[in-house]
Amino acid sequence: MFVCPRCGNKDERYIGHKNGAPYCRKCIIFSGEEAKGIEHPPKKAPLSLAYKLSEEQSNLSRRIVENFVNGVDTLVYAVCGSGKTEISYGVLAYAISHGFRAGFALPRRDVVIELYWRMMKAFPNNKVVAVYGDHHRRLEGDIVILTTHQLYRYPEYFDLLVMDEIDAFPFKGNDVLIALYKKSLRGHCVLMSATPSEAILKEFGKENHGILELMTRFHKKPIPVPKVELSIPIFQVLKIIKKLREYGKQGKPCFVFAPTIDLCETLYSNVSIAVKGGDYVHSERENKDQIINAFKAGKLNYLLTTSVLERGVTIKNLQVLVYQADKRSIYDSATLIQISGRVGRKMDAPNGEVIFFAEKETEEIADAVRKIEHYNTFL
Ligand SMILES: [Zn+2]
Repeated sequence: MFVCPRCGNKDERYIGHKNGAPYCRKCIIFSGEEAKGIEHPPKKAPLSLAYKLSEEQSNLSRRIVENFVNGVDTLVYAVCGSGKTEISYGVLAYAISHGFRAGFALPRRDVVIELYWRMMKAFPNNKVVAVYGDHHRRLEGDIVILTTHQLYRYPEYFDLLVMDEIDAFPFKGNDVLIALYKKSLRGHCVLMSATPSEAILKEFGKENHGILELMTRFHKKPIPVPKVELSIPIFQVLKIIKKLREYGKQGKPCFVFAPTIDLCETLYSNVSIAVKGGDYVHSERENKDQIINAFKAGKLNYLLTTSVLERGVTIKNLQVLVYQADKRSIYDSATLIQISGRVGRKMDAPNGEVIFFAEKETEEIADAVRKIEHYNTFL
């Protein structure tokens, strides 16, 4: 029987034949140049950080290094806004200074690009490369920052692989991507998540694994607990308009999440008549990067969005409204927690409002609120 050497697929339905030789159809889209895999000499990796890590962050950072030195994989369970990226700098510096090959993988390319710039600043003496989509001219450096889709270019390559947002689409539940990640690792991993699944918590609960928890945000302020407002959708629209006017007067930017592309567009056509200075984005919107950048630059007061902006965005003073938060197929509790985590991330603006508008309170909404309240008890 043929077993794909890359992704482990042995399902006959995904095995083709070419000139009599079997090939795997499951991972065939992942083909292209692979890293040469030259061994790295040890290099100095002095860190340049804009601010000092908190005591809690430093402790965690040290324990990740300890795990790595002891050959233990680590799961970092850290709430949104706790500064978990910075917690990984220590182990990355350790790896570089010992000549290990280090990588940092994330599901989304926009976050890869953002992280690339942050890493360049944090590791000014080292060669940082970013690999994503059609950007793969340079595959090797002291730190490779890449999308999980690009891991196939690094078979048995990384001595240290940090992976963030392991619970996010498209990585979550994608057997081929998970197989390619495992295949790319010849050393040890540090997985990071704000909302790890039960399955991964169980896996890391076993022997030879370490779960490290960071339950407070770096600025030691609580995560805003979402308010839940119950009413039918038409009244939700009116309440959103009222809130956007209020935030507009206070100069506070706002994200309004809608469950689907259609609902996002319909909501925008209703809201934009009453409140000017906004826009909307979703996966199929043209120029969405420009619109997001305009919002980040403060040129827009509010932005309606589907879950495309659920993660990885930090905007000062941001407020968050969720329209039809009871759409269970879209808003599970992990998603609702991520969305709430957009708010209050800045040291000088740690507060903000999160409101879930819904017809009824689902178990997912109740669970999200409960978990956030639980995180805040660690303060
Ligand atoms: Zn395969």
